[in-house]
Amino acid sequence: MNAMKAQPTASHYIDGKYVEDTAGEAIEVIHPADASVIARVHEATPALIDRALNAARRAQGEWAALKPVERGRILRRAADRMRERNRDLSMIETLDTGKPLQETLVADAASGADALEYFGGLAPTVTGESIPLGGDFAYTIREPLGVCAGIGAWNYPIQIACWKAAPALAFGNAMVFKPSEMTPLSALKLAEILTEAGLPAGLFNVLQGRGAVGAALATDARVAKVSLTGSVPTGRKVYTAAAEGIRHVTMELGGKSPLIVFDDADIEDAIGGAMLGNFYSSGQICSNGTRVFVQRGLKERFLERLKARTEAIVMGDPMDEATQMGPLISAEQMEKVLGYIEGAKAEGARLLTGGARLNGPGHYVQPTVFADVTDDMTIAREEVFGPVMSVLDFESEGEVITRANDTEFGLAAGVFTHDMARAHRVVARLQAGTCWINSYNLTPVEMPFGGVKQSGVGRENGRAAVEYYTQIKTVHVGMGPVDSPY
Ligand code: NAD
Repeated sequence: MNAMKAQPTASHYIDGKYVEDTAGEAIEVIHPADASVIARVHEATPALIDRALNAARRAQGEWAALKPVERGRILRRAADRMRERNRDLSMIETLDTGKPLQETLVADAASGADALEYFGGLAPTVTGESIPLGGDFAYTIREPLGVCAGIGAWNYPIQIACWKAAPALAFGNAMVFKPSEMTPLSALKLAEILTEAGLPAGLFNVLQGRGAVGAALATDARVAKVSLTGSVPTGRKVYTAAAEGIRHVTMELGGKSPLIVFDDADIEDAIGGAMLGNFYSSGQICSNGTRVFVQRGLKERFLERLKARTEAIVMGDPMDEATQMGPLISAEQMEKVLGYIEGAKAEGARLLTGGARLNGPGHYVQPTVFADVTDDMTIAREEVFGPVMSVLDFESEGEVITRANDTEFGLAAGVFTHDMARAHRVVARLQAGTCWINSYNLTPVEMPFGGVKQSGVGRENGRAAVEYYTQIKTVHVGMGPVDSPY
C-alpha cells in the first residue's frame, strides 16, 4: 500500500471550502488491514471551531427562509451524486475503517444517499397545525433549532454523517460535524458533494479532532443541539455538557442486544440473522444481537450449523470484493476484543470456534462464538464491539424475556419464530428501541432508530426525526375584543 494514499485536500471543510491549519495536533489515519498510514489530518484549533460555528450561524437564517421544497431539491441532488460516486466513496470508507468493500459498496454511502433523498422529500411535508379555540384560534409553526453539532463514531462514518446532516439541513438547520478521529475522511467528501449539489456555504462544516473538539462544540453558546453517535460513557459526558446550556440532544449509544431464537424458528434464517448481527462490519455495530438466546430443543443443531457457517467466512484484504470480513478498526480495539475473549474462557464459557487474532500487521480477529454463556459473565454484560457471539440457552418465553431485559442497555432486540402471535407478544415486552422479527440489523431510513435505557435519547430516521431537528412555535390569534379585568 502506498503511503498517504487517501490524503484529503485539507483537514477541515468550513464555509464551503477545504481549510488547513497545521497548528492543530496531527492525527494519523491508519488502514486497519495493514496498519499503514494513509493520511494525516490536523485537529481543529479554537480559531477554526469559531470560524465554523460563525459560518454556520450566518448561513442558517437564509437557509431556513427558503422554501422547504428548494432545500429538499438540493439534498436529493446530493443523494444522486453520492450514488454516482458510490465506488470511490466506498473505497475511502474501506481504507478508513477496514470494512470489506463487499459491505461498503452496499451499506455505507448507499445508506447515506437514502437519508439525503428521504429527508429531502420529507422537508416540504413538515407543517404545523391549526387549533380552533371557539372564535380565537392558534396555530403552530415547526421551526429549525439553529446550529446543530454532530459528533460521529468510527464504525459507519459517512452513514452517521448523513443520518445527522440530512434531517438537520432538510428542516432548515446548519451543522458542524466532527467525525471520529479514527475515520476522518468520508465526511469531507459529503461536504464536497453537498457543495456541488448547491448547498450554500456554511451550512455543513466538518472539523477534525478528538474528544476535546467535540466537547468544545457541545458547550458552545451558538450550538442549539448536539447529536452524538458513540459509547455510553461519552454519551454521559456530552449529554451533561449539553444540559448546561439547555441544548437539545440526540444520543445514539451502545448496546448489548438480545436475539431470541425459539425452537420453531427456521434454523438457517435464525443463524443467518445471528451471524449478520455479530459478524457484519467485524461485529462493530451498535445494535448487534450479541446475546443469542437459543431455546434448548434447538441448541445442538443450531451450534453445529453455526460453527460450520462461521468457519466458512472469508477473511482477508478488505479491498478484495470476495472478502467477507475485514479487520477491526485499531490495534487498541483488537486488544480489547482479545481481552474479552480471554476473560470469557476464564469465566467458563465454551469456545465453539475462533478466538484468535490473525498473524500479520492488520487488526484481524477471527469470527468467534462462545456457547454455554451465562447471564452473569462479563461477555454477556458488556459491549465487546468485535466479532464475538455469545450463545445462551433458555427454556421458556417468560424466562427469556426477563433475562433479555436484564441489562442497562436497550438499543435493539430480535426474535426468530414461526409463531407470529408469540413474536408480537415477546417484542411488546422487550425493552429496546428497535426490534426485528425474523430479520436482524436492517435499518432502512424510513424506520425510526434509537435506544431506550442507557442506549440513548431521541430517534434518528423516519418521520420521528422531525421531532429532533425542529421546535414548535405556538401562535395565539385573538379575534375579538381583549377581555381584561383592568
Ligand atoms: P466514542 O464514544 O469513543 O466516540 C464517539 C465520538 O465522540 C468520537 O467522535 C469522539 O471523538 C467523540 N468524543 C469523545 N469524547 C468526547 C467528549 N468528551 N465530548 C464530545 N465528544 C467526545 O465511540 P466510538 O468508539 O467512536 O464508537 C463506538 C461506540 O459507538 C460503541 O459504543 C457503539 O455502540 C456506539 N455506536 C452507537 C450507534 C447508535 O446508533 N446507537 C451507532 C454506532 C456506534
